Amino acid sequence: MDVERIYKEAEALLEGHFILSSGNHSNRYLQSAKVLEDPKRAALLANALAEMIQESGLHVDTVCAPALGGILAGYELARSLDVRSIFVERKDGGMELRRGFEIQKGEKVLICEDIITTGGSAMEAAKIIEELGAKVVAFASLANRGFCRREGIDITPKSECKLPSNIPFYALDDFTFEMFTPEECPLCKEGSTAIKPGSRNA
Ligand code: ZN
Repeated sequence: MDVERIYKEAEALLEGHFILSSGNHSNRYLQSAKVLEDPKRAALLANALAEMIQESGLHVDTVCAPALGGILAGYELARSLDVRSIFVERKDGGMELRRGFEIQKGEKVLICEDIITTGGSAMEAAKIIEELGAKVVAFASLANRGFCRREGIDITPKSECKLPSNIPFYALDDFTFEMFTPEECPLCKEGSTAIKPGSRNA
């Protein structure tokens, strides 16, 4: 499956001059909400991800996503795996399981995100789920920003990756972009202005 082409067709792989959440600048940006706005496309991607997970023989009881970004990807993956779908959400700076969702002792939970960058939110979700007595058996995302090592790809994870090395991480593709500090950004040096993705124009 050509995931990059699917992202491009959905206008979810933006090219321009962007300020990332880290404060660094880049000439590319993944807007994964755009790739999921077409339910058929979302199902196609989730099915491919579910196939990878099923082929590995991993047993999953429940998919849990960190809100808001992970919910659509998590829901679609749960549907493809034919398991329960829940989400945790931010409250007062931390993550919480709310809305009547319950966790059984020993329940096998997969944490799903749309994109894994360093895996920070995924790890926050994993911590809450394990505190409630479940076992986190895997992480999954549609896209991997190239900091963490995903199943089937033999790269050394970068120091920024927060996912543990002893739990498998499944993703469809790696999107490794060049990043620059604002001081060193070649696009800024050419005189262009960086925009924040998620704003009206991105
Ligand atoms: Zn710049």
